Amino acid sequence: MAKKKPLDWQLAPAPESKDHFKLKEQYELFIGGKWVKPKSGKYFDTINPANEQKLARIAEANEADVDAAVKAARKAYEGPWGKMPASERAKYIYRIARLLQEKARHFAVVESMDGGKAIRESRDVDVPLAAAHFFYYAGWADKIPYAFPGKNPTPLGVAGQVIPWNFPLLMASWKLAPALACGNTVVLKPAETTPLTALLLAELIQEAELPEGVVNIVTGAGATGAAVVNHPDVNKVAFTGSTGVGKLIQRSTAGSGKKLTLELGGKAANIIFADAAIDQAVEGIINGIYFNQGHVCCAGSRLYVEESVHDEVVRKLKHRMKSLVVGDPLDKNTDIGAINSKEQLSTINKYLKIGVEDDGEMYQAPCDLPSKGYWCRPTLFLNVAQSARIAQEEIFGPVLAIQTFRTVDEVIQKANNTPYGLSAGVWTDKGSKIFNLTTKLRAGVIWANTFNKFDPTSPFGGYKESGYGREGGVHGLGAYLNLN
Ligand code: NDP
Repeated sequence: MAKKKPLDWQLAPAPESKDHFKLKEQYELFIGGKWVKPKSGKYFDTINPANEQKLARIAEANEADVDAAVKAARKAYEGPWGKMPASERAKYIYRIARLLQEKARHFAVVESMDGGKAIRESRDVDVPLAAAHFFYYAGWADKIPYAFPGKNPTPLGVAGQVIPWNFPLLMASWKLAPALACGNTVVLKPAETTPLTALLLAELIQEAELPEGVVNIVTGAGATGAAVVNHPDVNKVAFTGSTGVGKLIQRSTAGSGKKLTLELGGKAANIIFADAAIDQAVEGIINGIYFNQGHVCCAGSRLYVEESVHDEVVRKLKHRMKSLVVGDPLDKNTDIGAINSKEQLSTINKYLKIGVEDDGEMYQAPCDLPSKGYWCRPTLFLNVAQSARIAQEEIFGPVLAIQTFRTVDEVIQKANNTPYGLSAGVWTDKGSKIFNLTTKLRAGVIWANTFNKFDPTSPFGGYKESGYGREGGVHGLGAYLNLN
């Protein structure tokens, strides 16, 4: 009997509309509750990485601009914000959360246009989680003494915060919500390639009528970030980004008395035992590495598969990769959007070359890529040595390095053999194995039979070169308080 040909499903395009709002042509700095032109006189363009078209012109803050922002933050701290009862502060933070929910669609569309991530993710993950962070920390604002019994928690003062481009709005909310709930004021620097949703958040903060200067947003590149971090009147520095820049910041703040939290890179092990529900695990692998184009510090970029199920897992993984939709971030069917920038694409391509040169066997999903913009096919490597660079270094793209193991001790050793320690995943039917591994893996977050799940109540942060300090949950409050 002739074999039946499998159905070739084609999804009809489902583009999200972007006609209901208009971005401004030019965005200024948000300082002291007002939009001010940069003293630097300079601007840069932010572009859509999916089509390389310019979205807006953005002000570039220099040291003098950052100084003005810190002064405005100090004035607000010593003035209205510092004097306000915590229960009143909470109302403003709730207002931000509710306004964010009201404007969720607008934020999601702009996030996808500016950063390249699929609208499915910005709509269902980034924006709702950002609102959830503001709700969660608004709830804490007037209960902080209960979180630290026997202590006398007081705010630190002005917080300087520098965030990356992979979750622009969500990282802004991770930084702002606990800082404000604890009574601090803020100067925030978004990443150069993704400033727009932070600027929309500034508009929203104006609408929420926060006192002037409580939140200041200074846009620019690395030099602007350095000016924020090194400003002498900043009491707290919170940074999320690369380990290289994290080390620079640690050096430059040493001895300054500034409280510092660093959320840096990762190279998470995702471990699949033979007794796991394999189909479910394959979905977890896909979500672990291809979510947000792999631009995720806690991405499951190292896959360890128990040898007896290696072939089955790889076969199912390749099959699943074929059905991933890569393309227009604003199409609701899209699973994998554009790579955030030309620079990041060239970093990823460099690692693909290295992986092949190191004898890795490369497989890429056979999808068409748009002709304009920055794109990378979902990729996996087989035959990867533990010492291979693609198994050791953070690629920050949709690239998975696969290895096998035979015993629990072996996989624990392999998983911990990395300079990083941010996250890990374990897939097994046996609760005892989960408890055994979670106590031995050196990672700040360990997911069991799931991956990349985030919640504002749950602390997040790393060991070793993945940084220190925790964001989220009660732990996240401690980073913004004097606890004497
Ligand atoms: P960076 O660490 O350079 O960027 C993170 C933030 O820090 C950005 O806002 C950046 O500004 C700012 N910054 C850059 N230099 C300084 C400085 N000297 N002082 C203070 N702030 C500074 O990451 P990249 O964007 O360059 O990405 C490079 C690699 O870093 C990626 O390939 C990835 O491996 C890793 N990365 C990891 C992240 C994580 O969450 N773990 C997030 C982002 C990147 P600007 O963007 O304007 O340069």
